[in-house]
Amino acid sequence: KFSVNIHRGCFGGCAFCTISAHQGKFITCRSKESILKEVRQVIEMPDFKGNLSDLGGPSANMYGMGGRNKKACEKCTRPSCINPQICPNLNTDHSKLIDIYRSVDALPGIRRSYIGSGVRYDLLLYRSKDENANRAAAEYTRELIERHVSGRLKVAPEHVADNVLRQMRKPPFQQFRDFKRLFDRINGECGLHQQIIPYFISSHPGCHEEDMAELAVITKDLDFHLEQVQDFTPTPMTISTEAWYTGYDPYTLEPVFSAKTQEEKLRQRQYFFWYKPEMRRDIERSLRALGRGDLIAKLWNNTQQRPALDMTRHKSQQAKNKNGNNRTTDNRERPKGQKRRPYRNDR
Ligand code: SF4
Repeated sequence: KFSVNIHRGCFGGCAFCTISAHQGKFITCRSKESILKEVRQVIEMPDFKGNLSDLGGPSANMYGMGGRNKKACEKCTRPSCINPQICPNLNTDHSKLIDIYRSVDALPGIRRSYIGSGVRYDLLLYRSKDENANRAAAEYTRELIERHVSGRLKVAPEHVADNVLRQMRKPPFQQFRDFKRLFDRINGECGLHQQIIPYFISSHPGCHEEDMAELAVITKDLDFHLEQVQDFTPTPMTISTEAWYTGYDPYTLEPVFSAKTQEEKLRQRQYFFWYKPEMRRDIERSLRALGRGDLIAKLWNNTQQRPALDMTRHKSQQAKNKNGNNRTTDNRERPKGQKRRPYRNDR
């Protein structure tokens, strides 16, 4: 209700996403005047308390970006301007976006403008030949973290395994690690205690159960208890769905594995929730079956391994979980009735 859309389109080209199919690869931006006009209308709304929940679009930080040489873009057939590498023709200057944020914040009646849309950290980390664009990216990153995070910043690494990330057309996981380090450093410098909330997908084409086991170990090492997760759902008009349906990568015609049965999908999904006591026995048993018993000690800090449960109980426990196909905020780790702890910017 209190969010303002500032652009349409996305040049990310993520293989599982339909945005570029129905909004296009080229970014269409609203003018600054148009955005400010809508923000003024929001300010006039009777129950508005001064906090905008989002100034964004399909991604938070593509506003004002596009190819420098438009003629080259007209002939271009790349599905993504930023994967597998950022196109040297792409202007990644964040200056216009900084100007929008600051102009909105300067309006009487605005206390804070938050960014609820997902941030493309690969654009923030990219070093182009244009030093002004690099400076603006650094300035934007600091502005975003200092002033526009409502306690939790959403980003979408989607997986940790680079073979799966390539299939998804997402950047290597090392970039997420680099961004997290930067986020934590700026938070520390500003005396803030904000969190990154990473999004992940299980059962994407190319993702094997072992990749999910690695995901559990790596996200544990990074101190995450995952909440925002999704099991892959085939969506029309995406490359991922084509690979899922045909079993082949449509570009290389190489065979691609996809988890398809409910059992396979639930087995992948369970690794997101390694930290829940009720999931431990199932995961331990799956890891032994995979021949990755070595990961048990990594997940539970060398604590004594438990004997595996019998299969009947294993299946019925998993079948009871009805959230198998949706990205979901899973709050079951909190005791019943206990509210989440307040974040710095909660009002
Ligand atoms: S030339 Fe580069 S910036 Fe232009 S559409 Fe192609 S990939 Fe994108």
